[in-house]
Amino acid sequence: MRDELDRSISILQGEHPAPAAGAGYPQDSADAGSSLSEADRNEAILHSARNQRDGVLAALARVEGHTYGRCVDCGGDIPDGRLDARPDAARCVGCQAKHARRR
Ligand SMILES: [Zn+2]
Repeated sequence: MRDELDRSISILQGEHPAPAAGAGYPQDSADAGSSLSEADRNEAILHSARNQRDGVLAALARVEGHTYGRCVDCGGDIPDGRLDARPDAARCVGCQAKHARRR
């Protein structure tokens, strides 16, 4: 899963290297408009891929620390069904709900 995300991120970054404002070739306004929204869309995908990757990396760290499958908040077991749906889940359902409300 992490390798897959790494691949997606490098592809996304490769296709759209860091936006260099002002640098690059001149475009007419129509092209600039369409490439801007494409860049925005790409940025959003990249952002969520990075977030997902952070979650996976944190899950892998928990695997190595032998705490994988345990809620990081209450220490309880995370149900297998939840881990199947969200392998990078860090919290049990109850704590995740509380965590989401805190934000
Ligand atoms: Zn919990």
